[in-house]
Amino acid sequence: MPLCCLVSSEGTHKPIPLPHLQPVILGRGPETTIKDKKCSRQQVELRAECNKGYVKVKQLGPNPTSVDSEVVGKDNVVKMKPGQKLHIVNQLYQYTIQFKVDTTTNQGATKRPLEQTSEQRDRHREEPSMKAAKQHEKLSVSASQGEPKQGNIKEERKSDSFGHWSQGLKASMQDPKMQVYKDDRVVVIKDKYPKARYHWLVLPWQSIPNLKALRQEHCDLLKHMQQVADQIVAQCPDVSLLRFRTGYHAIPSMSHVHLHVISQDFNSPCLKNKKHWNSFTTDYFIESQDIIQMVETNGTVAIKDGASELLNLPLRCHVCRKELPTIPALKEHIKCHFSS
Ligand code: AMP
Ligand code: ZN
Repeated sequence: MPLCCLVSSEGTHKPIPLPHLQPVILGRGPETTIKDKKCSRQQVELRAECNKGYVKVKQLGPNPTSVDSEVVGKDNVVKMKPGQKLHIVNQLYQYTIQFKVDTTTNQGATKRPLEQTSEQRDRHREEPSMKAAKQHEKLSVSASQGEPKQGNIKEERKSDSFGHWSQGLKASMQDPKMQVYKDDRVVVIKDKYPKARYHWLVLPWQSIPNLKALRQEHCDLLKHMQQVADQIVAQCPDVSLLRFRTGYHAIPSMSHVHLHVISQDFNSPCLKNKKHWNSFTTDYFIESQDIIQMVETNGTVAIKDGASELLNLPLRCHVCRKELPTIPALKEHIKCHFSS
């Protein structure tokens, strides 16, 4: 199979390999030498289909990526062939693609792209904080749709130290209207944008920013959070009708460790997009028990590389695994599993 690479027309750096079917995310950063702030760090995702002779270009950043004169548009995909020109952002930073015949042995031909991929992944690997920031960017935009903006802004401003929206849970956990349970170690609040009929968050009073900050000494607290979650589920009036899961997002968007307790009907207008769906139905959702076991055994939580890519997986029913093309189709389909 031919090998594909992305070539800078300005010759600002060496060609970037695009291994067959492997998503390569590019934007501002050392890989491209682009420093322009208008270009996101994750501006485009390129996926070469070497057997078909083209590359699929997906725009991830808010500013326009284009192929020849066609603007790709956020979250859209355009096919690019050799001879066409890719502008990473705002008609700037021109690239072309090249396919070269692989002259290595069969063995080499399969190994090489994989080696390049992992190298490339290393080069693209962002700081955990940056990854989380990207998540914030994406999830927050969709999560905030439809919320009563005026009220929320006021609510957040009440508490100066929680100014940024990613600190919103810290304000909510102090708000008696949001609390459904509390004891000396934890508080349970209603999720402000519930993704199912029942969706709560269990938070420790102790300030623990994220999963990475967890240590062995937190084991008892994590177990208590799980017990409280089980108790809340047990008290739910629909416990006999619905299944619940309790777990953490691999890369949370909100600061302060929080355990999701969510019914599996996913019947909610706040569940609006693929990222919402996949964050609760793929391995992006890590069972509370698995987190406890990791902390107990290793003293830390290890998040697998590529977790953020799970959010882009095709939409699949979480009950029968059927693939559906859109969120409305998926929502219609899952009704069949919940009608009595
Ligand atoms: P994540 O950080 O991805 O684990 O999810 C954060 C959860 O917090 C989402 O389910 C949001 O709907 C929810 N959320 C966002 N802002 C607030 C808030 N101010 N109060 C309560 N829940 C919130
Ligand atoms: Zn199904």
